[in-house]
Amino acid sequence: MKSVKENLVEINSQICNSSEESEFNTAPQVIVVTKYVTIDRAKEAYEAGLKNFGENRIEGFLEKKKHLPDDAIMHFIGSLQTRKVKDIINEIDYLHALDRLKLAKEIEKRAEHVVKCFVQVNVSGEESKHGMSPDEVIPFIRELKDFKHIEIVGLMTMAPLTEDKIKLRQYFNQLRLLKEKVQSLNLSYAPCTELSMGMSNDFNEAILEGASYVRIGTKLVGE
Ligand SMILES: *Cc1c(COP(=O)(O)O)cnc(C)c1O
Repeated sequence: MKSVKENLVEINSQICNSSEESEFNTAPQVIVVTKYVTIDRAKEAYEAGLKNFGENRIEGFLEKKKHLPDDAIMHFIGSLQTRKVKDIINEIDYLHALDRLKLAKEIEKRAEHVVKCFVQVNVSGEESKHGMSPDEVIPFIRELKDFKHIEIVGLMTMAPLTEDKIKLRQYFNQLRLLKEKVQSLNLSYAPCTELSMGMSNDFNEAILEGASYVRIGTKLVGE
């Protein structure tokens, strides 16, 4: 197995190329997704210079957080059950999967700080994907007006598994346009400046369309 450092060199050079090629000129942050790997491998990623960590299960999240240094930035990227919010919300730096009002209400009730949230959007319309449909996003965000503990920092999506790069670009482009629409509302609680999109198989296409956070597991730390 290659070291995280070796993988990171390769990924960084691809990120660099895609950023340069992108008309949006983003330098995306890398979230290393450690859901498949051990605590030691996560620590190796930290030593390699990665500071943003992503986990999609509560147990794994809390365990990694406990063993990583305090300045690790912890992203919860999985869907969160409403009844589990109280167990984890105050440990989260960024939540990438805000996808319904019921969840927002529970966060509002349980959070002791302002939680930075991405609204998860299902741009492909695939039934197996979580997230709200693009049409629902702006009405949803308007409903959060009086929520003191939620800040909408951006939008997140997972593209379908496909090799079709043109299709992938279209999905990511759609998310960017929607993000710009939300931004133009000028809501103080929803600056919506960020785009969380791109995984091991499609991060280059996501960066070309302006990703500011890519979430990479397999190609960085392995499966
Ligand atoms: C697992 C996961 C990733 C990382 O996937 P890889 O293909 O291993 O890079 C990114 N985002 C979410 C939401 C995930 O669940």
